[in-house]
Amino acid sequence: MAARYIDLHTHSTASDGSDSPAELVRKAAAQKLCVIALTDHDSLDGLDEAGREAERLGLQFVRGVELAVRDDFGELHVLGLWTPRGASDLDSVMEHLRRERTERNAAILEKLAGLGIDLCMEDVLAMSGGVAAGRPHIARLLVERGHVGSYQGAFDKYLGLRASAYVPRKVPGPAEGIGLLRSVGAVPVLAHPCLYASMTPERLDAVLAAYKQYGLVALEAYHSAHDAAQVRLCVDMAARHGLLLSGGSDYHGLIKPGVRLGRGRGGLRIPFWVYERLLHFRECGG
Ligand code: AMP
Ligand code: ZN
Ligand code: FE
Ligand code: FE
Repeated sequence: MAARYIDLHTHSTASDGSDSPAELVRKAAAQKLCVIALTDHDSLDGLDEAGREAERLGLQFVRGVELAVRDDFGELHVLGLWTPRGASDLDSVMEHLRRERTERNAAILEKLAGLGIDLCMEDVLAMSGGVAAGRPHIARLLVERGHVGSYQGAFDKYLGLRASAYVPRKVPGPAEGIGLLRSVGAVPVLAHPCLYASMTPERLDAVLAAYKQYGLVALEAYHSAHDAAQVRLCVDMAARHGLLLSGGSDYHGLIKPGVRLGRGRGGLRIPFWVYERLLHFRECGG
């Protein structure tokens, strides 16, 4: 039997991806993935549509979400896998996060205006289709208007942590965010720990020790932004802290060109056993 692969971190038009939830699942099927999770930022709106399409095409589907939690150096992201429907605590936190996001976008545009760059909110919203608008859309607009040469340049110069138009988002603390996911029965996974320039092995060690106490279950070792050494570091850290492994491409469609579903920037492959272990934890609690 051919090797089976999965992708447990993706974004659709329900947040800042460019594929509809159903399109995304069709692409996963075309790539011959056998498990796909949809993990939109602060939103469960795409999950029903994606789940129906997955059922139609015979893929296993995991209802997911990506939440940000506060960190000394900005924010870290936690995926919740197997997120239930109708958990009112979770719904109200996500609604709050979406409101904060709107206010933060306005604050970023104010800062940019102060730097002589005039962008209007309508254009940002148009870029995002009106849902979960955020820095990726502002970055694309900055490129389109010729203020920077590239998407990455927009983050380096204006939008990234410590750049000139950076505005922090108000998000829950890690104990609160991870506790919330556990309380509704979701499986919390620390996403792409090596994406951040400020993340040293020592810091990751400390973060995992604390987050494990809050209920963290797994570490996303396999990710489009992780190189082989970073994967090894994550595998080592997960073993040390008694965490399971997870993996996903963080596919966003056209918003992150070059990142493919299930394949990342080309070298990514997440084996089926990663899913089986997570599923076993969900069903048997470890
Ligand atoms: P937001 O949700 O508005 O805070 O935007 C977060 C998204 O911006 C992340 O999912 C990344 O895709 C992107 N992003 C954040 N920081 C950077 C960075 N320094 N360089 C490139 N992309 C980044
Ligand atoms: Zn995103
Ligand atoms: Fe993320
Ligand atoms: Fe993501």
